[in-house]
Amino acid sequence: MSEAASTVTVDKEALRRKYAEERDKRIRPDGNDQYIEIKDQLSHYLEDPYVPVQEREPVNDHVTFTFIGGGFSGLVTGARLAEAGITDVRVVEKGGDFGGTWYWNRYPGAQCDTAALIYMPLLEETGHMPSEKYVHAPEILEHCQRIGRQYNLYDNALFHTQVQELTWNEENSHWLVKTNRGDAFTTKYIGMAPGPLHVPKLPGIEGIETFKGHSFHTSRWDYDYTGGDPKGAPLDKLADKRVAIIGTGATSIQCIPHLARACKNLYVCQRTPSSVDVRDNQPIDPEWFKEIATPGWQNRWLENFTANQTGEEAEVDLVQDGWTDLAKRVRHKIAKLAPEDMTVENMMAAYEDSDFQKMEEIRQRIPTIVKDGDTAEQLKAWYQQLCKRPTFHDEYLKSYNEPGCVLLDTDGQGVERITEKGVVVQGKEYEVDCIIYASGFEVGTPFARRSGFDAVGRSGKTLSEHWSNGMRTMHGAYVNGFPNLFIVQAAQGANLISNYPHNLTEAGTTIAKVVEHAEANQFAEVELTQKAEDGWLELLKSAPPGLIGTTNCTPGYYNNEGKGWGTGPTEITAAGYPQGPLAFFRYQKAWREDGEFEGLEFRA
Ligand code: NDP
Repeated sequence: MSEAASTVTVDKEALRRKYAEERDKRIRPDGNDQYIEIKDQLSHYLEDPYVPVQEREPVNDHVTFTFIGGGFSGLVTGARLAEAGITDVRVVEKGGDFGGTWYWNRYPGAQCDTAALIYMPLLEETGHMPSEKYVHAPEILEHCQRIGRQYNLYDNALFHTQVQELTWNEENSHWLVKTNRGDAFTTKYIGMAPGPLHVPKLPGIEGIETFKGHSFHTSRWDYDYTGGDPKGAPLDKLADKRVAIIGTGATSIQCIPHLARACKNLYVCQRTPSSVDVRDNQPIDPEWFKEIATPGWQNRWLENFTANQTGEEAEVDLVQDGWTDLAKRVRHKIAKLAPEDMTVENMMAAYEDSDFQKMEEIRQRIPTIVKDGDTAEQLKAWYQQLCKRPTFHDEYLKSYNEPGCVLLDTDGQGVERITEKGVVVQGKEYEVDCIIYASGFEVGTPFARRSGFDAVGRSGKTLSEHWSNGMRTMHGAYVNGFPNLFIVQAAQGANLISNYPHNLTEAGTTIAKVVEHAEANQFAEVELTQKAEDGWLELLKSAPPGLIGTTNCTPGYYNNEGKGWGTGPTEITAAGYPQGPLAFFRYQKAWREDGEFEGLEFRA
């Protein structure tokens, strides 16, 4: 429902109280430490169920550019380098193909909930027309492979390979890369994308190691066990199975409809409900696409979405989705304020008003779909929409009308125990054949733990040491003491999170420009100066607090499990460009195009 059509009335005081109560119930002193790192005897949870590992000889050569990670970041950077004539690029990837997130997340129903026309990178360059407004995962994986082929990134790629050591060689001005496959090669430049959400995590539930049935994490979906396939074929091997799924985040919302239809019994273990708004997906009409796909279209769409979503004035809303609707509602409310009332407090109050209304609509939709009254009540999310990843789905709520699907609400406490036979919720044991962990990915853990390596820069200093008091970069991309090293990430740059690939495309484009400049002028090294790094951090400190990640929210990875990002090393890591994402993208474009590359030092 659009803002203009909203007729919902709310009791603000009662809602504030309810939100606080629900939040307090969930706060745990162990924060992020409640999750278990997957290693040692749990390592089988990380095995690749999709592509067999190929034997190969170790590589001991030299390449111009190496990118660690074959997801969107590596693909876009590799593509931009190829466009600049730098074709000697090697991608090192732990999965068996390109795709990153979309290589691993093949669970049934996986879909991108950001519109494909802005989410899928390089659509204009590859000439691909997405099939739907919100495409399903297999199409995104195929698109990654398309980019890999078009820019010849397969030629030099090392799949099923993890970097273990990365060391700067002062004498020869290059990096030495060592991997778990015995490779030891050198590279003039290194790129990496050490961002969040790629290392699966397990909940630290008592007894988790004792379960005798089958179990897997959603990012390593076991189709041999469930039957079906990532394209949506029914999970036919589950017809006689009792399955528990732990977690009700964005992943679960998408796969539960498939499980609910297929399992004999499905127990959904819920700690915090997601907000589930209308999806309304549609196929893309090729005739319409032809009309809009005029030169430069994707960039126009990207900028338009970011403008609409982050509060800049835009004449039209091209994407028209739940994200832009939310932002428009807030703007609409703020626009009603008299000029003398335009204070930060009043603007925050307008945001709160509009959010109360939106969330009430989302809650009121539930009993119109879910037949069982208690279940419908338990599915209601009591927090501001941006406290957790908002979700959008038209089948999820219907799942609870399937005869075998049962919601096991834990009243915010989580699954109590796992036994040899199943899960214990609120004192009752539910015997199951299989447990599926939809428990998410590591966020806020140290970079070296998530990456599996540390970078050893000038004078033997590691990146972890350099960042021991918080991340230090310029634009999120360049680091003093780490020459010829580039990072692709949203942090300390635009920090735009709902259409993450916008960050990655801009960063990849910029890095390719820097490398092109260095190569054209035969420089051996390019490095961020100390002064520029200090200056960038000072600038970030002046940024106003964001709406996302506040400690008033129910805990989750958005707010560091309730602890917030406002203290210690995480504070500066989570900061973004003070004038906002679109201003950052404009600044970054001007920076890379004026040829000065201010802050970087190029050396012969
Ligand atoms: P999340 O981290 O969002 O969800 C993990 C879930 O596990 C939460 O519901 C959490 O509950 C629950 N959980 C954790 N511990 C326990 C416990 N002890 N007992 C019961 N439940 C527990 O992971 P997802 O994989 O769902 O999503 C990760 C991110 O991936 C998303 O937020 C989104 O950014 C991205 N994504 C994007 C999609 C897209 O369309 N673009 C689709 C899917 C994912 P609690 O909330 O209480 O912590």
